[in-house]
Amino acid sequence: MIYFIIILSVLFLALLLITFGRYRGTPKKLPKNYIKGLELLSDGDREKAIEYLNRAWKEDPENIDAYLRVGDILREMGKANSAIMIHRNLSVKPLIPRDKKIRVLKSLAEDYIVMKKYGEATKVLIKSMHEGDESQETARKLLWLFEMQEEWEKAYETARNIFTDRKKLYSYGVYAGMKLLKKDPDKAYHYIRQGLKAKIPLAKLANAFYLLEKEDINSGIKELIDVLKEYPSYSDSGLDVLEKLMFDRGRFSEIESVYRDIIEKDPMNITAINHYVDFLLKKGDKNKALDLITNLNLPDNHPDTLHLKLTVYAETDIERIKELTPMLIRACKSTQKYKCRECGYETEVFDWKCPNCLTVDSFVRV
Ligand SMILES: [Zn+2]
Repeated sequence: MIYFIIILSVLFLALLLITFGRYRGTPKKLPKNYIKGLELLSDGDREKAIEYLNRAWKEDPENIDAYLRVGDILREMGKANSAIMIHRNLSVKPLIPRDKKIRVLKSLAEDYIVMKKYGEATKVLIKSMHEGDESQETARKLLWLFEMQEEWEKAYETARNIFTDRKKLYSYGVYAGMKLLKKDPDKAYHYIRQGLKAKIPLAKLANAFYLLEKEDINSGIKELIDVLKEYPSYSDSGLDVLEKLMFDRGRFSEIESVYRDIIEKDPMNITAINHYVDFLLKKGDKNKALDLITNLNLPDNHPDTLHLKLTVYAETDIERIKELTPMLIRACKSTQKYKCRECGYETEVFDWKCPNCLTVDSFVRV
């Protein structure tokens, strides 16, 4: 009997040790509410998810992730003010691990962005970087924030963290310079000059605009002519300006030779062709305009080609317009697009900078 009791006690002790050993070091409670909250979240039941995540956070105040997510959900539900309160509280909580703190700050910045409080969002993201956040995501968001606030110098400093390729960085500088041109041409020139030294094509166009801004009109015109001849694709941005300046000064034959030079170098340059055709029609030189469009190498059903033909035939050959009508209707349904040479991003709205890969001067017409 006594042996039996001893054996039983030993077995009991062993069981106790095993049980104690297994649970030592693991949390007292399995975070059931937390897991349930995450499940509800992935099912799309945000209201219920908040309920469970809140419980999880109350059970275990160290479960920062649960509370962080409550804030994120509230923001997604349009309650950014409540999200800010939660995330701000978390951001001042002491002894949070650094990676968690960065996540909190990123969420808080997101809340401010939703509220369009860009200054606050900027401060928070800078703090996140000071905490050691080196992610491209944060750098890109910060760049966007500085752009929104038209803080072009700070945007350029941020761009240093994004572009490892120097040419791309200097191109961004030229872009920033173009944005600064009206407000502060001298500051703008700092970036344009850097681009000129690095032989960034866009810097030449920017330099022409800089000269015009400084009212050095003749040098501006000369630079603009040079840049359009060298890079005909800038016609979209520079030809209107150049044409107006030269018309105002009666330099008609000179502008005509600019059109011709551009079209010779780039026979598909629809902008230059359009300008030239308009010019010829105004001058009354209908046959030359007709000649020009008859010898064109442009795709027949492209809206630009049709528009051009319509302009000329309206003055010269009304019957031909009837033939073009079905094509014209089809063309009205499609719109012009630009494609990024670097990443393939497509858009209908032209910008110097690709919103996807941030490369400057990368869009081509398609
Ligand atoms: Zn791109």
